[in-house]
Amino acid sequence: MEKIKIDFKKIADKVNLPILAVDYDNKIVYANSKFCSLFSTDSETIAGKDLYDFLPQKSDTVIIRNYTYKISKYDDEYYSYYYLDAVDNQMEKIYSDFISTVSHELRTPLTSIRGFADTMLMSYDRLDKVQIQKFLTIIKEQSNRLIKLVENLLSVSKIQVQHSNLVFKSVNAQSQIEKVSDVLKNQYPTHPFEIKCAADVPNILVDENKFQQIMINLMDNAAKYSYEKGVVSVEIANSQKENFVSIKVKDHGVGIEPENLGRIFEKFTRIENHLTRKTQGSGLGLYIVKDLIEKMGGQIFVESSTELPNSGSVFEILLPVASYTSQSKKKLED
Ligand code: ADP
Repeated sequence: MEKIKIDFKKIADKVNLPILAVDYDNKIVYANSKFCSLFSTDSETIAGKDLYDFLPQKSDTVIIRNYTYKISKYDDEYYSYYYLDAVDNQMEKIYSDFISTVSHELRTPLTSIRGFADTMLMSYDRLDKVQIQKFLTIIKEQSNRLIKLVENLLSVSKIQVQHSNLVFKSVNAQSQIEKVSDVLKNQYPTHPFEIKCAADVPNILVDENKFQQIMINLMDNAAKYSYEKGVVSVEIANSQKENFVSIKVKDHGVGIEPENLGRIFEKFTRIENHLTRKTQGSGLGLYIVKDLIEKMGGQIFVESSTELPNSGSVFEILLPVASYTSQSKKKLED
């Protein structure tokens, strides 16, 4: 079979129509010969310029937007040919953001774990009990951070393959939230965590581990995006929606601008604010939280404001009450 090498630029140059390839910011990536002849220029000179500085009116220009092309070769005993695959620039950007965020998120706690372990090994006979306890606490906290990241990454890959194995059972929300708060108190020693539970709140029907993962993400964010000493409060109550329990996670932090509220649940999305610049995060937490809550038959709402310095955010989740029969059975057992 005759071998043909496909060259996108060569093909585009043969076409008797002006063709422009532009990126997401409308910057010209490539212009074919026909287009260049209209402007008496060449592709190198025009590359990087703004589309609208050059777009001739009613010229029937073909604009290829957001795509780059990847050429890969297929070669075996019988056939040999090239594929021309469109690669979405946006996907490439998401992918490279992902790699840099995850490497950063992994490297920071690992460096600190290795550093403190090294110090302890090298000077274990010179350290006193208080110092040893301090170093071990840091090692434990940084390991917790790694575990949270790995769990979030595993959840995302499960979401992507549409596979989930939730184990539903009747769970007391307050006692699970108290466990989460004990872990976070060590991590954020200057933030008071307050848990309030109304009387007669029934158990919820959820996967216990996933419920903890949801609460860790929401309460960790509440502390992370607040200033020192900012109170993080969690309120558990019966929801106005029948057969649902409402859990509100409130903070007095930086808040989120109204135009960004829709984006925070998207994968790998971190909203620019002076605390996101200072704090670590993968932009996966809320994406996973929303997905898990919906898989458990619940809903999540957010209210936030940036008008005052400490206006803060409220994330409310609604989760279904464990079935009436299991409730009445529990009451009889009590
Ligand atoms: P991250 O790992 O960046 O914390 P999340 O998915 O948990 O990722 O959150 C996405 C973005 O939403 C964060 O980067 C932050 O900008 C914003 N955000 C989440 N929770 C809060 C909060 N309680 N207060 C202010 N901003 C928040």
